[in-house]
Amino acid sequence: MNVDLRSDTITIPSKAMLSAMLSAKVGDDVYGEDPSVRELEKKLAAMFGMDVAMFFPSGTMANQTAIKLHTNPGDQVICDKYSHVYNYEGGAGSFTSGVSFKLIDGERGMFDSNQLLESINPKEFYHSPLSSLVVIENTTNKGGGACWDIGEIKNIRKICKENHLGLHLDGARIWNALVKKEEKPLEYGDIFDTVSVCLSKGLGCPIGSVLLGKQEIMKKSIRIRKILGGAMRQSGYLAAAGIFALENNIKRLADDHLRAKEIGEKLINMSFVKKVQDIETNIIVFEIDKSVKKDIIINAFNKLNILFDWHSMGTNKIRIVTHINYTREKHMYLLDSLETLKI
Ligand SMILES: *Cc1c(COP(=O)(O)O)cnc(C)c1O
Repeated sequence: MNVDLRSDTITIPSKAMLSAMLSAKVGDDVYGEDPSVRELEKKLAAMFGMDVAMFFPSGTMANQTAIKLHTNPGDQVICDKYSHVYNYEGGAGSFTSGVSFKLIDGERGMFDSNQLLESINPKEFYHSPLSSLVVIENTTNKGGGACWDIGEIKNIRKICKENHLGLHLDGARIWNALVKKEEKPLEYGDIFDTVSVCLSKGLGCPIGSVLLGKQEIMKKSIRIRKILGGAMRQSGYLAAAGIFALENNIKRLADDHLRAKEIGEKLINMSFVKKVQDIETNIIVFEIDKSVKKDIIINAFNKLNILFDWHSMGTNKIRIVTHINYTREKHMYLLDSLETLKI
């Protein structure tokens, strides 16, 4: 048995998804002639009630296009200190848009409207960078799959409006939040100026993200995607995977969430585990006891062919992510291993 829970990005498309891809109708999307890409974009725009949807090869490119659309060089983006756009996109905000970041010291990647209010640089004070965009991540990645309270997001929306700030949602895992909170995509489309969603995380596609937005803000998105190298040709083969995933793979995320909870319950009882963060969706973050050597723990799990994300969350924090390829059998094997493993 081999259990890879480093990320929900390691998934392999199912036979049914591959067959949907094989039978996709395609054309040159740079000419705007790929019917499957059009269909995926239309479907997502309707789901979120947005005017425009645009298919991207990665979530990073979709987020960075959003930042470019909302800002001018020299501006400042406000986000949580844990946010993906700041920590895990290679510094692209400064590279492609020439922006700096004001980081809010939130809880598990989330902040409140008062913290936002304190972070906005006054427009007339020209010594400070101009605040122009707020980015929210739902669910939070480094925050361990935590979901925002939509009421607080609405408070943030109000402050953005009053201060002429754009509001972007990094919704790489918005599907997990929607399932967990029983919310509707339309509610999010109603609040945000732009929304990026990933098809390649919990939904199990090999590639693909989509940026959604209102007509006015999206006017230059096609040019920016071209500049960033994201204009693709017969990308309908990939879009077909996305269409399949939207129709088949959203509801089942509840299974991933349940399994994550069950793993967490076992972890709490292990000698080397100091703390397990509350588990809301498919991400588990736990802290290991400093008195136990991390290498010993990693080796013990390697011997059992069990892979976790041992490094990206910080020295003593470990991340586990459940996903569509983590079957019931694998789950039983992992729970058994956690029960019997002695470190
Ligand atoms: C994965 C992820 C992205 C985008 O990642 P890509 O690997 O570029 O597709 C963006 N935001 C969050 C929160 C993510 O987890």
